Amino acid sequence: MSDCIFCKIVAGQIPNHTVYEDDFVLAFLDIFPHAKGHTVIIPKKHFQSLSDMSEEEWQNMAKGIFKTVAKVREVLKPEGLNIGLNDQSVAGQVVPHIHWHIFPRWTGDGGGSFHSIIKTQEKIDVVELAKLF
Ligand code: AMP
Ligand code: ZN
Repeated sequence: MSDCIFCKIVAGQIPNHTVYEDDFVLAFLDIFPHAKGHTVIIPKKHFQSLSDMSEEEWQNMAKGIFKTVAKVREVLKPEGLNIGLNDQSVAGQVVPHIHWHIFPRWTGDGGGSFHSIIKTQEKIDVVELAKLF
């Protein structure tokens, strides 16, 4: 997409600090890092949402994420990490080209867990909900 900032990075029109690259994915350092080594992994092809991607494209992403994590581990040796994505604006997505975030983690870094994203006030009956599946 011509006006997409991440497509411009893939096209080489905007510079990036590459962590890992293959035919399907590009991983680069986030310019406004939330953690040391905060890395963004994108499909080279433009998709806004996870739901726009095929099973095979997900598999290509999984391989790219695996390789990127290995590189981040090798270079920065974090004690742990969080991996996640914001899919659609309701979930906090700002750049409309789907991307995974890696947050390398260290003891005492002040960060929370994935669970700190949301804690619903709604009373949810898990047994009832499970019947839908
Ligand atoms: P999200 O809120 O999930 O859409 O995250 C978008 C992320 O992209 C943010 O963490 C930004 O700091 C990051 N970002 C935006 N522009 C660039 C850029 N040119 N190079 C690297 N990271 C970027
Ligand atoms: Zn794009």
